[in-house]
Amino acid sequence: MKTSEDILKLLSAKPKTALGFFPTPFYRLDNMSDELGVDLYIKRDDFTGMSLFGGNKIRKLEYLLGDAKKQGAEYIFTYGATQSNHAMQTVEACCRCGLKPVLYLTAVVEPDENDIRGNLLLDKIFGAEIHIISINEGETEAEADARSRKMAEEQIKRMEAEGKKCYNVPMGGSSHVGAAGFLGGFAEMSQQADRRGLDVEYIFHSCGSGGTLAGLCAGKKAMGSKAKIISVSAMGHESDFASHCAKIGNDALKWIGLDPILSSEDMNIDENYYCPGYEQPSKGGTEAIKMLAKSEGLLVDPVYSGKALAGLIDHVRTGKVPQGSTVVFWHTGGATALFAEHEILGDII
Ligand SMILES: *Cc1c(COP(=O)(O)O)cnc(C)c1O
Repeated sequence: MKTSEDILKLLSAKPKTALGFFPTPFYRLDNMSDELGVDLYIKRDDFTGMSLFGGNKIRKLEYLLGDAKKQGAEYIFTYGATQSNHAMQTVEACCRCGLKPVLYLTAVVEPDENDIRGNLLLDKIFGAEIHIISINEGETEAEADARSRKMAEEQIKRMEAEGKKCYNVPMGGSSHVGAAGFLGGFAEMSQQADRRGLDVEYIFHSCGSGGTLAGLCAGKKAMGSKAKIISVSAMGHESDFASHCAKIGNDALKWIGLDPILSSEDMNIDENYYCPGYEQPSKGGTEAIKMLAKSEGLLVDPVYSGKALAGLIDHVRTGKVPQGSTVVFWHTGGATALFAEHEILGDII
């Protein structure tokens, strides 16, 4: 069994670019705790920095861009939806490090050229090279994503032929290098919980490309923690998603010099709260956004963190999480979606 200090020490031997403000705050939500009847804490990874608009990708990018710099890369390619938080955080991190970001973005929601909003607006202010891939008629989102990756690979090939060095960051930054950031995240939160004498029983977080889940679950298992991590999906996943995440988590453990111990049974992926679909508002998500805003003065978003909080609230209300439990809501960020296209936010007011 490893301690949080062991994990952090192993990670410190890896190439890393300091980007964020760590440790992120961890504290009790007194009003929401009273409302729900559980002891509710929040891990503020919406507050990682670097700009006002941080989020969970900064932890991953510290290692990803560290690796990119070690390899001598100048150009960072990455992928996502046009309103991708990951793409925006990659761009801001690249600006800080003197790297040039190139984005291939799938228009899940087609942006209005005369009214660019949210993360896409920020990507443009930060000066990223942006390629927008519209979804063709009869094409699925996944097919458009695959097409955009192929176009990027062709551009990388052309640029490398000219002697330019490119580094590819997968969608969501969810490689084992990115997930290692969440091995550190789990260790960091464990230290904060220990200092308060807390025995964390449940952790809820939003899940997309799986790197956060992989890192948290791997950290939890390596440290022998009994906390139950509930990964609330923001989108539908293929049936092999859990084993895909187990592999990322195991590769992250190996990368820092530990044994791979994760299996898909170690994960609790809850697919019940993302409908009607990715970047489509849900009733539960809208309620959760308003509830947290009014009771704590804090914001979650309609695509990810709001739906994860909706999952947490529902698990408590239906007794799946017993009254009096110690629960952590891992805030992964994303509030820029509150200023995205109306289709994404829905009728919240
Ligand atoms: C990317 C993202 C997630 C999901 O994290 P993954 O590591 O991709 O699963 C959750 N919340 C927000 C706000 C995000 O931007």
